Amino acid sequence: MKKLKLHTQILIALILGAAFGAFFHVDQSVLVVATTVGTETAKHEVSGWSTLEIQTGDSKQIFTSREGAQVLRAWKGLPKDKRPTTVLTFQSEGKEPQQFTGVTELRKEKTIATMIRPIGTIFIRLLNLIAIPLVLASLLVGAASLGDIKKVARIGAKTLVYFMTTTALAISIGLVLANVIQPGKQVSESSKELLMAEYQSDVQSKIATELDINIVDMFVEMIPTNPFRALANSEMLQIVFFAVLMGVVLTFVKEEKSGPVIRFFDGLADTMIEMVHLVMKIAPYAVFALIAATVSEFGFEIIQTLIWYVACVLLGLVIQTTVVYPLLVKAFSSMSPLTFLRQLKPVQLVAFSTSSSAATLPVNMETCETKLGVPNSITSFVLPLGATINMDGTALYQGVAAVFIAQVYGFDLSLAEQLTIVLTATLASIGTAPVPGVGIIMLIIVLKAIHVPEEGIALIMGVDRFLDMARTVTNVTGDAGGAVIMASVESHSLRQNA
Ligand code: ASP
Repeated sequence: MKKLKLHTQILIALILGAAFGAFFHVDQSVLVVATTVGTETAKHEVSGWSTLEIQTGDSKQIFTSREGAQVLRAWKGLPKDKRPTTVLTFQSEGKEPQQFTGVTELRKEKTIATMIRPIGTIFIRLLNLIAIPLVLASLLVGAASLGDIKKVARIGAKTLVYFMTTTALAISIGLVLANVIQPGKQVSESSKELLMAEYQSDVQSKIATELDINIVDMFVEMIPTNPFRALANSEMLQIVFFAVLMGVVLTFVKEEKSGPVIRFFDGLADTMIEMVHLVMKIAPYAVFALIAATVSEFGFEIIQTLIWYVACVLLGLVIQTTVVYPLLVKAFSSMSPLTFLRQLKPVQLVAFSTSSSAATLPVNMETCETKLGVPNSITSFVLPLGATINMDGTALYQGVAAVFIAQVYGFDLSLAEQLTIVLTATLASIGTAPVPGVGIIMLIIVLKAIHVPEEGIALIMGVDRFLDMARTVTNVTGDAGGAVIMASVESHSLRQNA
């Protein structure tokens, strides 16, 4: 039998994983209580409860069954020494209350689908492990081969223009869709109250995050005071700065001294790319595990309430990914837009299942080089930079989300406010770290700028995980588009390997 292509394998894994996760889904209404009284330990599954009272000393907290996530947080927030004396009382309609003391653990039920998550986590960790040495080594070699600081600056400037343009385009698409579809007008008052109650405490922790975007500071902080600390803390922009600087300066040094250094990093970069090949062998299994775990824990009911909002974001992401980038690729390079999309499939599938542009970076670099024929000197510069600052999917989503929340609160946004969204969402997406779930935190900046209550993010939190997966696909596709276009405008021929 002919071996299936990798992206077909991953796609099959994704579909099977989703089905597996849906079959072994976690029942949101079941809580598992583990107790130890004396020497006796026991595990109880409590289902069908309507209220739960958590009593510690004199303080009492009461939750309804709709507030499952908050119950777990309240429990985790209790000091460890208070837990054994805490009394949990579950009330169920028409049944005797159930009371527990000596509780050692309170959690949601686990299913086989959530238990296999570590396979996926191992994959994400392996990809992250490759990313930092790969970026440092290949960018350094790339910069050394360009050799000319003016050339680096020219490519840098063009790349930034591309990033800014595509981001602004993405937000504009989001805004147009949100204004036409008006998803916020489709949410009833009762759904709004329910969503707000369910996610309120989540919001508090997110709002507490210190947020500030300052362009001048961003430029200053691009310069690391200690490159090793930058590497250790995965400060991508600082690593990019250091690698470019060192690469360029190496060309000023005598061959006798610079040769071994460049060859060392060249060897390191090749080794890392080889490691991507190896790690991708487990991709289908990892994707299966990641999707199964996510689907099994996901409360699907919430998608129904927010269906118009979800549809609006997804439609925007699809347009950006399958129309805007391919058109740009067609306009500015000799590559066929279809080849571009076809070859990127594995990258997009990895982005979807890991929700992280940083974890996807090694796969994106490898694919752009070997499948799309973009020279290493371009991929190693454009892609790490893109993964860090170019997040078109995130920006589009922030645009839609801001308008959606404003609509639910009954605010009419003026044209000036919509332009403020374009500006702040561009900056917020630049500041978003390429890891799961950061986009929603940066959305707070956008909401603040247009004076919409930031508590509004409670409305969209329930579907954020899913939209995070989708927007990451757009983020990485935009970066790859940038690499292809930069290679062409810098008149490198693309040696495609279709
Ligand atoms: N998960 C996204 C990424 O890594 C960032 C976000 O929008 O939360 O690209």
